[in-house]
Amino acid sequence: MELLKQRILQDGKVKEGGVLKVDSFLNHRMDISLLQEIGKEFRRRFPQPEINKILTIEASGIGIAAITAQYFNNADVVFAKKTKSKNLDGELYTVPVRSYTRGELFEVQVAKRYLDENDCVLVIDDFLAHGQALKGLMEIVRQSGAKLAGCGIVIEKGFQSGGEHLREQGVNLQSLAIVDSIEDGVITFRKD
Ligand code: 5GP
Repeated sequence: MELLKQRILQDGKVKEGGVLKVDSFLNHRMDISLLQEIGKEFRRRFPQPEINKILTIEASGIGIAAITAQYFNNADVVFAKKTKSKNLDGELYTVPVRSYTRGELFEVQVAKRYLDENDCVLVIDDFLAHGQALKGLMEIVRQSGAKLAGCGIVIEKGFQSGGEHLREQGVNLQSLAIVDSIEDGVITFRKD
């Protein structure tokens, strides 16, 4: 998605350890016009009419999923929670996920009443690196018995292993921008 790639080149900041910082338009301040274009592009790439739920993970996935849902006939957005709280009650789907940014293992949870075998789910997230977050979300879909329509990622870091691994497994994975390298602060994208 050319508009997104241009924005990453213009405003993205390369950090140590292969981290790309895009908090000026995606992860902290959110550019809603860009998110609307992202939502339209996800719809183009996932045209299946039966998609009725968008599943993501807090926190950065929520805004992206909420705007995207408007292009999926206002599909419900369900976000996996990373912290236990008194508001999270009833039966839960629970999956351990290792955090890319903090390195620690934490439990990701979704209430069973919000996802079941009658659903067709599009999984959305902001970044794909080693694929831990996406695999956790896909495991929740598997536990629920819902149909997985595919996985949509805003920025995939193609130099880390997650995307290749998931595509080898036959996952319908669509990334709107794939960064192939960020060497010496220079960002290079994979050709579409
Ligand atoms: P994974 O689980 O695929 O290893 O990492 C994906 C998760 O880590 C995403 O949910 C995202 O929040 C975070 N993440 C991974 N790499 C980056 C990065 O380069 N920049 C930012 N901002 N977040 C990242």
